Amino acid sequence: MQCIRCDNITLNSDAEPFYRCPVCCRQFRLHTNGKLVERWLGPISTVLYPVQYDSLPQAKAAEMAEQLYQATYGHVKTSFRRFTPEQLTYLIQELELELNSPVQQVADILKSRASEAELRAYMAQLVMQLKHKIAAC
Ligand SMILES: [Zn+2]
Repeated sequence: MQCIRCDNITLNSDAEPFYRCPVCCRQFRLHTNGKLVERWLGPISTVLYPVQYDSLPQAKAAEMAEQLYQATYGHVKTSFRRFTPEQLTYLIQELELELNSPVQQVADILKSRASEAELRAYMAQLVMQLKHKIAAC
């Protein structure tokens, strides 16, 4: 099994169906369809989890951007865990990487109700709004 982000790197097998790349350290899950996707609790699943049951998650992009911002720079409790600014930057980078050079079906990471296109539009909206908030502070 090869890493879907790195060239010609064989993944290490954790307990099935989980894999880890020895070079980029990304963790994957082998979906029952035979394709690798990000393992749960990775950056993409972090933003997909709260909209898992929404068929039109774009409607919640602004709210989720605000919550992620608050989970990093604010003092109010949100549905997300706390992030350091570096962790939030990493999360944004990983979302942008997947949006700009897709290597997986993000709809397969969780059992999302929304379509692949809708989820990607949600991710793009969320990233845009979050970057805007960070730039304004
Ligand atoms: Zn890798």
